[in-house]
Amino acid sequence: MNLKNATDSEILSGLEKLTKSERKITHLILWHILEVEGRKLFLQAGYNSVYKYLTRHLGYSESAAYDRMQAARLLRQVPTVATKTESGTITLTQMVKVQQSLYHEKKVGNTVTKEEARELIEKVESKTTFETEKILACELNQAPKTYQKIKPQQDDSVRLELNLTAQQYEDLKKAQSLLSHIITDNNLAEAIAYLAQNFIQKKEGRPKAAADKESAPAELAKHNSREEKKSDSSTQSFGLMPLKVPVSKEKRKYIAASVRRAVYAKAKNCCEYIHPQNGQRCGSKYQLQVDHIRPLAKGGSEDISNLRILCGVHNRAEALRWGLTKPPH
Ligand SMILES: [Zn+2]
Repeated sequence: MNLKNATDSEILSGLEKLTKSERKITHLILWHILEVEGRKLFLQAGYNSVYKYLTRHLGYSESAAYDRMQAARLLRQVPTVATKTESGTITLTQMVKVQQSLYHEKKVGNTVTKEEARELIEKVESKTTFETEKILACELNQAPKTYQKIKPQQDDSVRLELNLTAQQYEDLKKAQSLLSHIITDNNLAEAIAYLAQNFIQKKEGRPKAAADKESAPAELAKHNSREEKKSDSSTQSFGLMPLKVPVSKEKRKYIAASVRRAVYAKAKNCCEYIHPQNGQRCGSKYQLQVDHIRPLAKGGSEDISNLRILCGVHNRAEALRWGLTKPPH
């Protein structure tokens, strides 16, 4: 398929239609899986379980087969969920989460009636996976897991599971978004490593990276060298010492700290880009930068009225739109 000659609006409306069909097909597939399971039709096909039939015969990956089986079981319990999956207000992932929670309740001896399950589904409608998990934990009164798990792995990495309070998590996410200029792929482990390295350096007064080439900062150095290749990439290091992020001085004029603070406050610390047609505000907190609405190079002023906050993606898109950078190839 070649979409090179399609217009932007053709692509957007095409994708919208396809997504609708995909949801419809997914929900039809779930009904079929239920029948295959109920009638044990996998036996006829030479498999001893519906899971093997889905993975080996139909070619689903293990996780895709598992998700569809879980979702199908929820559909059996609460058939009304079908209309919500079709309209897109309940995703396959959410169905899996709900089904897993219901199964857990059953396992510990708690009865959840069909009516309660239906109400549960209504409560998680249109929520993110994160919100869904929280609602399920609250509604089903599932006790928080309090243990901390540290598990060594074969490649010398360590798998760490731990609980954070809502405030601790909020703080960590905030630190991560402030670091998003440096750690550009949202990698939480690298953000934690970076914060730890900075703390160590402040305490001990030397960068640990120099002493240990195999450590996480080596990974960060890769990020930085990636950053250096992007001439228009952002440049704040938030007063942190060890990892140098280059500043493209010609392009960036000094904006007084008080002005910056005012612009960030006006923007409520998130991207102010508003889609010109549908009025959708971006709201991202990722790689935030102060942007000149009309660039200085195009005669824009340095007045606060010409300043706004944009995320990295919209900042680069705006630079492209004004012809200040070339499209990537
Ligand atoms: Zn944005």
